[in-house]
Amino acid sequence: MVSDDDDDAIRTQAEKLLKDGLETQVFPRADDQETVLKIIGDLKVSDGSLTQRLVIGGFTLVPVEHGDIEQACETCMYYLVHRRYCELPELDLPVEEEWSCNLWRI
Ligand code: SF4
Repeated sequence: MVSDDDDDAIRTQAEKLLKDGLETQVFPRADDQETVLKIIGDLKVSDGSLTQRLVIGGFTLVPVEHGDIEQACETCMYYLVHRRYCELPELDLPVEEEWSCNLWRI
């Protein structure tokens, strides 16, 4: 059973990694099926660590402007509002509403 405390600890750790300058693959964004499959495939063969999920997922602490759209977790179909959580199975991470990743989808 995962508690809110667990989520908070992981969220804080992710935020620190990104604030400390972890370089993530912000682009390309997953605009087409080929890119989606590539990123998902890379996540599946990674070690599944928090760092790898942040890097391959191209995480940022602020929304990303892409093709006239502001991409943020809060507008993504995978965002669980009440838990502040990304339910995409390959990411499966506590996030913040203003964060963003390259798999954003409406
Ligand atoms: S897929 Fe990316 S943008 Fe969407 S909720 Fe998950 S982390 Fe946020």
